[in-house]
Amino acid sequence: MSEPAGRETMGFQTEVRQLLQLMIHSLYSNKEIFLRELISNASDAADKLRFEALEAPDLQKDDPELRIRISSDKEAGTLSISDNGIGMSREELIDNLGTIARSGTAEFLQQMTGDDKKDAQLIGQFGVGFYSAFIVADRVEVISRKAGLDSTDAVRWESEGQGEFTIENADSAARGTTVTLHLKDDEQEFLDSFRLEALIRKYSDHIAFPVLLEKETEEGGTEESAVNSATALWTRSRTDVSDDEYKEFYKHLAHDFTDPLAWSHNRVEGKREYTSLLFIPSAAPYDLWNREAPKGLKLYVQRVFIMDDAEQFLPLYLRFVKGVVDSTDLPLNVSRELLQQNPDLDAMRSALTRRVVDMLGKLAKSDTDEYASFWREFGATIKEGVIEDQQNNEKLMQLLRFSTTKSESEAQDQSLADYLSRAADGQDKIYYLVGDNYENVKSSPHLEQLREKGLEVLLLHDRIDPWVVDHLREFEGKEFQDVGRGQLSLPEGEGEITQDAINDEHGPLLEKIRKSLNDKVETVNVSQRLVDSPACVVTSDKDLGPQLRRMLEASGQELPETKPVLEINIDHPLVTRLSAETDDARFGELSHIVLDHALLAEGAQLDNPAEYVRRMNQYLLDVEAGAATE
Ligand code: ADP
Repeated sequence: MSEPAGRETMGFQTEVRQLLQLMIHSLYSNKEIFLRELISNASDAADKLRFEALEAPDLQKDDPELRIRISSDKEAGTLSISDNGIGMSREELIDNLGTIARSGTAEFLQQMTGDDKKDAQLIGQFGVGFYSAFIVADRVEVISRKAGLDSTDAVRWESEGQGEFTIENADSAARGTTVTLHLKDDEQEFLDSFRLEALIRKYSDHIAFPVLLEKETEEGGTEESAVNSATALWTRSRTDVSDDEYKEFYKHLAHDFTDPLAWSHNRVEGKREYTSLLFIPSAAPYDLWNREAPKGLKLYVQRVFIMDDAEQFLPLYLRFVKGVVDSTDLPLNVSRELLQQNPDLDAMRSALTRRVVDMLGKLAKSDTDEYASFWREFGATIKEGVIEDQQNNEKLMQLLRFSTTKSESEAQDQSLADYLSRAADGQDKIYYLVGDNYENVKSSPHLEQLREKGLEVLLLHDRIDPWVVDHLREFEGKEFQDVGRGQLSLPEGEGEITQDAINDEHGPLLEKIRKSLNDKVETVNVSQRLVDSPACVVTSDKDLGPQLRRMLEASGQELPETKPVLEINIDHPLVTRLSAETDDARFGELSHIVLDHALLAEGAQLDNPAEYVRRMNQYLLDVEAGAATE
């Protein structure tokens, strides 16, 4: 027996193999979603053909009515999902159904925990697509003919979902793609037309093309009819669309498995006409921080699909938003380049941005649990917005959430309005402190005096925070103040005391410490911040904060050297001891220890840890010797 023409056996990419294994295991309790995924792919294929046919109408001419057909064969135990859309060439079949195009897949797969529920969520957000067929089938066959190619160029792909697939020439086939599932023995329920009809209604009603289902008639024959409403969901009036329909549409659009957190559906009329349907996903995609990850909205012009991932409609910080824009005015031949040059686009982008920000504002007001979960997943992108988007600054500031010195845990759940509602009488500042992590910032000596006075401080410990704070100017007329930098002025009632006035009394001591620390500090001040700690370091208002400095240095940037200001707690016993020290050498050693401890408390790494350890050991021995002779 000779091999069929052009037959090749190929191995799946390693990641595909892993994904298949994990998926079959963790999505089993949701197995029926395979039908949604395959219908969703068929619908995308029809969209793509309609788009290509704008330029080349011949592509669609031989079979102009785009549709999706579902049929089953009880004898053979097979279920077929067939479309007359764009189809795939041999190379496309190999690429699309043998590899995973998205980068970062390997890292993503490593996050799998083995806990089915969690993994199902993770896999769901990754988008399982075509491969979900293997949850219910032990063999899948795909026959495809790309629009524009001859019927003799059709190809057949087949796999048992283990390690490999085969590809060969198909005898002949109509335009488009037919996916045939050889159902596993215990999945024969999916041959039942009532079951199929219910599933299509539930998951695929919003598909804009007719989904035709073959059913048996009472006479024993078969007939075919559309079981979905076959109108693009966003063209329907808001009051006609149920929440469930919005949710299913989102899953189709976003290739997501979980419900969206919120959505906003709007028609704009007048000078510019367009409809938008925007969704906030409930979980951040694994590649939210990957610059190359696809982002943007799906663009339609007069209901004709034009492109995926149109980035021009929303700013970068809103890259997590999924949705559709359907414009009446854009030309059908619009390309990414043309979009960039289109003068109307700026106005649409501002309007859509405002919609998203308002939708989040509403979510924040109406449902704190949902907003809390939004903030956990996407809070850092909103902080990017505070940096980038001046136009919506006020609204974005209201969306911010923080942990504070009054929080019980590191959850960021306090708004600026919450903070101000607790502000002390006469407090005209919003105090904050930045640190590398929550533990570090929470126990910082910089907070001691403020704690003692009952003044609440926002604790900022996200990676992006050192950049954000430069953009925190004021909120409701109150200025922001970094309690780790510059001079701290607390509401005293009787006016501020200047640093000079406080320093004056202790001039000689301060000068002696400065001298013995030589070139390590800018200056030494008497602190107004400290209660329990002997000392802390502060950066001057003009200098880069230490966290930002460390990050920039870690990324290889050369920065001009700056020195911290050392602040000492004049009432602390260690400082009392220092000022009583008559031996100059010992005074110097103790001053260095005080400085190094202040640096450590702030999260810095010492330039010379061994030197510090030597000093500290020596000091401990001296103390012991002192105690023994007393
Ligand atoms: P996704 O749909 O998330 O991209 P899939 O694994 O479902 O992932 O599909 C991978 C690719 O295979 C699709 O992006 C598409 O290019 C192609 N594809 C899948 N099904 C079809 C189909 N019915 N017709 C044409 N192309 C298809």
